[in-house]
Amino acid sequence: MIEIPCTPEKAVPALYLDLDGTVRKGKDELGRFVNGPEDVEVFPEAIEMMRRWKAGGGRIIGVSNQGGIALGIVSLAKVAAAMRETHRQAGSLFDKVAWCSHHPGAADPEMARCWCRKPSPGLVIESALEIARQYGEYYPPYMGLMVGDRPEDQECARLAGLDFQWAADWRAQASSS
Ligand SMILES: [Mg+2]
Ligand SMILES: [Zn+2]
Repeated sequence: MIEIPCTPEKAVPALYLDLDGTVRKGKDELGRFVNGPEDVEVFPEAIEMMRRWKAGGGRIIGVSNQGGIALGIVSLAKVAAAMRETHRQAGSLFDKVAWCSHHPGAADPEMARCWCRKPSPGLVIESALEIARQYGEYYPPYMGLMVGDRPEDQECARLAGLDFQWAADWRAQASSS
């Protein structure tokens, strides 16, 4: 049977946030990768900007490359625990946190190839579709924004049709900075 959707959905702005170096301190700020919950330090300015977005009725989705999982550098459990801690420190403002566990350098082809590692737009699209179903909403790219600190974030935004802002500029808009 073919399911034909006919329920009207609500158009909502979605904010896609890179995590390391954008929402939480990354390698540049910590001097090491975030490998577990003990490494998580969320920027206060990011929390303020996330609050503002939510106050405007938007959704927030975290999108993070965690290729260390595919390379065997960090466990899936540690990454998941770090994500929970990030969500907690960020005032539980995320509607979803998604990450890519793959890396082109992995020996196992299942872990080496994917459509979700940024700059690929798969993580953004999969996440948006998932929460869209959950809330009966949709997230038109023209209403959305992606924030990140790396060229792959910028390219991912372009491929997904989203506006892009550099993390430092985004956080600089917070009054606490
Ligand atoms: Mg980053
Ligand atoms: Zn992936």
